Amino acid sequence: MNPVPENQQSIPLAQAMPATLAWATRLNASVLAQGKPLSAWQAADAVEVGVRQPDAVRILRVPVLPQPDCPHFRNLATQSGFDLDGSTGMALGYAVLICHSALGDRKVLRHELRHVAQFEQCGDLGRFLDSYLAQIAQHGYRDAPFEVDARRHEGRLTMSRSDTPPSP
Ligand SMILES: [Zn+2]
Repeated sequence: MNPVPENQQSIPLAQAMPATLAWATRLNASVLAQGKPLSAWQAADAVEVGVRQPDAVRILRVPVLPQPDCPHFRNLATQSGFDLDGSTGMALGYAVLICHSALGDRKVLRHELRHVAQFEQCGDLGRFLDSYLAQIAQHGYRDAPFEVDARRHEGRLTMSRSDTPPSP
């Protein structure tokens, strides 16, 4: 049996990051320019899941979620079980994309807004993506701490206002 290279996970991660960040930065700017501000109830949900600046969030409805055109990202996604084709929402900084199929789905919106709170905690989009991709590389998509945390905020449950996202 061949030994598994120690840095097997870090290879696709390091390769995926530059193109993924460039893609995310472009998409972020485009959604911030075209998206709509949160409505009153959406802003209330944003505050409830820990977003500090709900006024900065913009939502864009899209037919399908865009994906980075980077083979290294696809490798990482495949290895970690990150299925963007099967996802209905995405948050890149204050830019939130929601698929038409998830229109009005409050759980999807709250999940993505929690990713916005995580981004605020990280400080910038690069650090958020670094942490996010490292987490899915290490734990797999489903068990990545940011995903577990976002799922925990989908319903209106027992969280307190002081609840802060996990540290990157
Ligand atoms: Zn998520």
